[in-house]
Amino acid sequence: MEKIDCAIIGAGVVGLAVARELAATGREVLILESESAFGSGISARNSEVIHAGIYYPAGSLKARLCVAGKKRLYDYCAARGIAHRRCGKLIVAASEAQVGELDAIAARARANGVDDLQRLTRDAARALEPALECRAALLSPSTGIIDSHALMLSLLGDAERDGAVLALQTRVLGGRIDSDGIVLAIDSGGERSELAADCVVNCAGLGAQAFAGALQGLPAAAVPPLFYAKGNYYALAGRAPFSRLIYPVPEAAGLGVHLTLDLGGQARFGPDVEWLERIDYTVDPRRADAFYAEVRRYWPQLPDGALQPAYAGIRPKLHAPGDAARDFLVAGPAQHGVRGLVNFFGIESPGLTASLALATHAAELLAPA
Ligand SMILES: Cc1cc2nc3c(=O)[nH]c(=O)nc-3n(C[C@H](O)[C@H](O)[C@H](O)COP(=O)(O)OP(=O)(O)OC[C@H]3O[C@@H](n4cnc5c(N)ncnc54)[C@H](O)[C@@H]3O)c2cc1C
Repeated sequence: MEKIDCAIIGAGVVGLAVARELAATGREVLILESESAFGSGISARNSEVIHAGIYYPAGSLKARLCVAGKKRLYDYCAARGIAHRRCGKLIVAASEAQVGELDAIAARARANGVDDLQRLTRDAARALEPALECRAALLSPSTGIIDSHALMLSLLGDAERDGAVLALQTRVLGGRIDSDGIVLAIDSGGERSELAADCVVNCAGLGAQAFAGALQGLPAAAVPPLFYAKGNYYALAGRAPFSRLIYPVPEAAGLGVHLTLDLGGQARFGPDVEWLERIDYTVDPRRADAFYAEVRRYWPQLPDGALQPAYAGIRPKLHAPGDAARDFLVAGPAQHGVRGLVNFFGIESPGLTASLALATHAAELLAPA
């Protein structure tokens, strides 16, 4: 049986960042990706926002890795010429009740080390964005947007330069813990084989639990339940009269139907939260009514008929609908007892922003004690 040093399962932004990180330290890295292209999973279906690190509970992995990852991502984009823009965002209170929530958001941000938020009156917010309607707002100057595919291409390029190899159409079916390391069962274009690895990093996104659950020797308690929370997006026909991202005060399971811009200035609204039993990326045009209502709370002039169904992404949630939100779960040998294994579970937002920091975290978990 062939034996390698490190196998990374999944070539999304997390797997590619981990591959880059490990290859840079001289380790042999093979990235196993079930699809025919890298970055076609969750990493291709998101808002492409570089988050500031505002909302997450202090001390959580989401908070720490978002704030650290944001800085590293901006530096990396600048060094590599990856298209991005530090456009800033406004978090807007649509009612008097929400005005008080802005203070709580600002306090939480400060606890996370985000100390550049500015409180704006309605008039000050409208001076920045004249089409905006709100009672008050918070300006986050360090929020930005990024070409996530260019980021992934660059991460892959770095990893390959340091010797990593990407195997496409290669699905990891499961495996077992062996004296030889971790033995993976693989399907490459219909051909079954086994591969042993000293280290395996499970970055399979929506497939992370399926792989971990099929890895014999990994305690079942180490595999958390997975819940799908779809986020639908609608694109705006025509130009949006905004130059910053506009976010409502967040709701329970997501950040609310916000306005994001791509690097070409095209606006889209979303994602909402639709809990699913199985993966389905269809955007139901009937959800548009709710979008109009949400968006008109901060942009009353949104014209009728201006929203077109665009695309959807699915968040790999670790909590059931109605339950409290969970942190990223990044489990290494100290957590589950299997030498050489790191599992990434629940890498929803801000996983894109945090990707470089998540990769460093995985490398630390794999380092000998
Ligand atoms: C609606 C939405 C909006 C978001 N917006 C933002 C945002 O604005 N900013 C931000 O920072 N984050 C955002 N995120 C989060 C971010 O997109 C994710 O955290 C990140 O893309 C996750 O990357 P990943 O590599 O873990 O997963 P993926 O990109 O899904 O990669 C996993 C890969 O593993 C492969 N795979 C799965 N199973 C197997 C197997 N058995 N064998 C081999 N390969 C396998 C898949 O094909 C896939 O390519 C958003 C997420 C969603 C859903």
